[in-house]
Amino acid sequence: MDEKQKIRVRMAPSPTGPFHIGSARTALFNYLFAKKYNGKFILRIEDTDKERSEKKWENDINDAFEWLGITCDEGPGKGGDFGPYRQSERTGTYRKYIEKLLAENKAYPCFCSEKELEIHRQYLLSQGKPPVYSGKCRDLPQKETKEKLTRNPNAPVIRFRTPNKKISFNDILRGKIEYESGIFGDFVVAKDSQTPLYNLACVIDDYEMQISHVIRGEEHISNTPRQILLAESLAIKTPQYLHLPLILNQQRAKLSKRDPQINAKVLDYKKDGYLAEALVNFIALLGWNPGTDKELFSLQELIGEFSVEKLQKAGAVFNKQKLDWLNGRYIRQLKPEKLTELCAPYLIEAGLIGKNFPFDVLTKIVCLHQERLKTLSEITAMAAFFFQGNLDYDADLLRWNEMTNEEIAEALQKSEKTIYAVAQSDWTKEKLSEILLFEAEKFHQRADGTGDRGWLLWPLRISLSGKKASAPPFEIAEILGKEKTLQRIKKAIEKVKQIRNNI
Ligand code: GLU
Repeated sequence: MDEKQKIRVRMAPSPTGPFHIGSARTALFNYLFAKKYNGKFILRIEDTDKERSEKKWENDINDAFEWLGITCDEGPGKGGDFGPYRQSERTGTYRKYIEKLLAENKAYPCFCSEKELEIHRQYLLSQGKPPVYSGKCRDLPQKETKEKLTRNPNAPVIRFRTPNKKISFNDILRGKIEYESGIFGDFVVAKDSQTPLYNLACVIDDYEMQISHVIRGEEHISNTPRQILLAESLAIKTPQYLHLPLILNQQRAKLSKRDPQINAKVLDYKKDGYLAEALVNFIALLGWNPGTDKELFSLQELIGEFSVEKLQKAGAVFNKQKLDWLNGRYIRQLKPEKLTELCAPYLIEAGLIGKNFPFDVLTKIVCLHQERLKTLSEITAMAAFFFQGNLDYDADLLRWNEMTNEEIAEALQKSEKTIYAVAQSDWTKEKLSEILLFEAEKFHQRADGTGDRGWLLWPLRISLSGKKASAPPFEIAEILGKEKTLQRIKKAIEKVKQIRNNI
C-alpha cells in the first residue's frame, strides 16, 4: 500500500431490497481496508432507480450496519465534506457531467422505442452475436435530433458513444483484465440530463468523493471497463479496483438473494439468534484467509490482521454449519447476564415468560443451556420445560435400558422419597447431587456388581424435563424448587402406571 495515498473507500448499496450477506461482506471488507490503512469508509446510497428504491431499505442498511458494528466515517445521516451521500440528492452534480458528454458529442440522445430495441436484440441473439445497440441514433443529423427533441423532449435516453478500443485495468486481486469495448455497444448512461444510470453515477461519485479504491463483488467486473471508458471521456481519474470473489452456496452455485437453503438477509440472522460478532467473523472468512489455524476474530482483530494479500480469488462457499459452530463458540463466551438479556426476548416472544420474570432464575435457566445453544433462539425449545405446567412427553421415554414399568415407578418413588427428605435450606444442586448420587449408586447393580446410576437418575431427569437431552436432574431440580420437582415426579409415576407393562 502506498503510505502517502489517502485511502477512501465506499460501500454503495442500492436500497431496493433487504441488505444481504454479499453486501455485508463488501461493506466489511471496505471497512477493514479503511481502518487497516488509516483511511475513510464512506456509505453512499445509490437510489437513482426511483421506482425500486425505498426508504425502508435504506433503514435496513443502517440497521444492519449498526448491528454488525460497522460504522461509516461519511454518509447520509453522518455527513462529511463530500455529500450529499444519497444519489437522489446529487442531480445538480450529474447534470454538469451529462451536459459535458452531450456538448462534446461523447453521448447522444436516442429515440428508439423499446419495441424496436427488443426486436433488434432478439435478432442479434438469434445470430449468436452480443445484443448491442444498433447505432441507429448515433449519427442522426443535428437538425433531426433537434426536431425530435422539440416534439418529445421527455422521450429519449442518453447513450454513450462507445469508442472502439481495448480497455485494460489492473485488478488488485486478479491482475490485468482486458475488454474489447465493442461488446458493450453504445450503452445507455442516463435517462435524461440529470438522471444518470448506475455506471455513470458511480463514476462521477467515485471521482467527486475522491474514492481511492473500489472494492466490490466479482459480479461488477464487467461494469469496470464501462466505468473506465466513461471516466476517460470525462477526463477524470479512476480509482483502483478490487473485485471480491463470489459467494457460493454449498452446491457451489452463486449465492442468490433468494437461495432456498441459505437465508441471505442480514437482519434475519439477528432475528434467528445469531450474534453480530459471530456473523462478522464468519463473513470475514468468506474470501479472506488469515493463513493460520486461528478461526475466531473480533472486529478489532480483523482490522489488525486483515490484508489484501490474503484475499482469495476463488468463490467462497457459505458453510451454514460453520456459521452455527462459530455462533455456538461466541455464545459460550457470553457472560451469564449478557446471555440472559439476549435470550429473554425469545422466551417472552414465545409466551413462555412474562417481562417481569425474575432475572436471577432466568440466568440460571439459560446458563444451563449455554453449552448446547448454537443460536439464541434455540433457548425456547431447549428451556420451555421449565415454564410449562404440564410436560408433554411419551411415558416410554422414562425407561432406562430394560426397566419394566413397575421398576420405573419404583425408581421414581425412590427419588421422590429421597428428595422429599431434603430440607428446604439444603435445596442446592450440590446437596441434591450428593444425596441422589449416593442413592443411585446403591439403587441398582449391574451383573458385575457395579452401580447403574441411570436406573434412578434417568427416569428422574425425564420426569423433570420431559426431554431426551437436558441438563442433569440436580441442576433442573434446584431451579424448579422442591414443590415443583415433587409434583413432576408424581405426575411421571401416574403416567407410567397408566401404560401397559410391555416388557
Ligand atoms: N449500487 C451498486 C450495487 O448495489 C454498487 C456497485 C458498486 O459498488 O459499484 O450493486
